[in-house]
Amino acid sequence: MIVLKFGGTSVGTVENMRKVADIVRNTCGMRIVVLSAMSGVTNSLQRIIDLIELDKMNDAKIEIENLNKKYQHTVYDLFGSGNRFKEASLRISYFNNVLLSFSDKDYSDQLVREILAQGELVSTYLFQILLEENQENSKLVSALDFMRIDSSGEPVLDHIGDNLLAILQNNNVDVFITQGFICRNSNSDIDNLKRGGSDYTASLIGAALAVDEIQIWTDIDGMHNNDPRFVENTFSIEEISFDEAAELAYFGAKILHPQSIIPAKEKNIPVLVKNTFNPESPGTLIHDKAKVKKIRAIAAKDSITAIKIKSYRMLMAYGFLMKIFEVFEKNETAIDMITTSEVAVSLTIDNTEKLDRIIDELQSFGNIEVETDLSIICIAGDLAQNKKGVTSAIFNCIDQIPIRMISYGGSNYNLSFLVKTADKISVLNLLNDGLFSDLKKAESKKELV
Ligand code: ADP
Ligand code: ASP
Ligand code: MG
Repeated sequence: MIVLKFGGTSVGTVENMRKVADIVRNTCGMRIVVLSAMSGVTNSLQRIIDLIELDKMNDAKIEIENLNKKYQHTVYDLFGSGNRFKEASLRISYFNNVLLSFSDKDYSDQLVREILAQGELVSTYLFQILLEENQENSKLVSALDFMRIDSSGEPVLDHIGDNLLAILQNNNVDVFITQGFICRNSNSDIDNLKRGGSDYTASLIGAALAVDEIQIWTDIDGMHNNDPRFVENTFSIEEISFDEAAELAYFGAKILHPQSIIPAKEKNIPVLVKNTFNPESPGTLIHDKAKVKKIRAIAAKDSITAIKIKSYRMLMAYGFLMKIFEVFEKNETAIDMITTSEVAVSLTIDNTEKLDRIIDELQSFGNIEVETDLSIICIAGDLAQNKKGVTSAIFNCIDQIPIRMISYGGSNYNLSFLVKTADKISVLNLLNDGLFSDLKKAESKKELV
């Protein structure tokens, strides 16, 4: 059994959906196809939500109408006219009415989640009728019937596996279509796995059913060595370990949802990242047998806030760090990086929802300084502490850039450091030039790449 996940661009137009249908058709065996919303739709739904929150109902209705037009065009492109066109148009009108009815309700967290779920519900509906039109033996399965998170937002793998398996066993088809991103929570209400969460859905399904492979089909030929949005001359990585890929995803490689590698890694299921628009390209294989490379890839995570706690009294006292961590735990805020000195400890967080309370509670431990607009740069590779020369190779490239924090030695495959976001693009480019370009040009420099 294989899970194939297709992102927003892959299902963004009818032409692209047909490419996806070809890829699904050309894959053998039992297939579970996970789809994102059509590209731009979740952003549009988020705009509708923002307008409802601002009580700008007319603007919200205009945005809903724009979405409706986009869907109606898609249905026309799919079927032209005839009975299928009528049936699909009616269904799209139904989805439109659902959105309109939301715009009459009071703003609430639950309303937000229900609106955000509408994108994947529509894209999977459209794709299923495209397959039906092509006489493909497939079934649309609602992710809301099996995908579940608990009260802490963590996926419940047993529930996912048991419920999905029961659905698969009751249906004699080879291709199942389902929504990425959406799920139910511990109250059985509609919820989601956070932006970009369709990758996570694919990995969770793969792990829950112990499939042979999880395929992530996107708009680029696999994972690149650096962020192609900010750096020219990046290249696709042939293979990468689970740990390195998980680290890069967590630290900003947008191609994968931050948590999406963990379920696959835990069940040792290979993840193949492929390009829908260039299926011949080998893509990137994420697995546990990836040949070691000193420096594999670089990623950057923005919107980082650093908090420094300075205390001459307490830092050396045992239990001090625990008390600090408790503040973050109580406020359900994850810490990304930490560095200590004799008189101060610096931490970074990316979720600032509870920052005011955290600062308030930390005041009793010492002097607090907060710095915002920072980015973590993450370098993944074989960075074990017994290796010589790697750290100097990295820092030599960026000797003109001020560095706020460095984290090294926490694991064997990651080095991260903190810079001002204003310096991020320069840092990514300097590292690319210093660590990859020259080395790629000259095979002799293989010792670092
Ligand atoms: P999808 O809609 O298919 O989920 P995403 O937009 O979420 O696609 O992810 C693909 C995009 O991720 C690429 O188009 C690329 O711009 C961006 N990206 C960021 N970092 C990387 C990286 N290291 N390798 C490849 N793509 C990356
Ligand atoms: N549609 C959702 C988003 O845009 C989930 C996804 O595409 O993975 O974030
Ligand atoms: Mg994505």
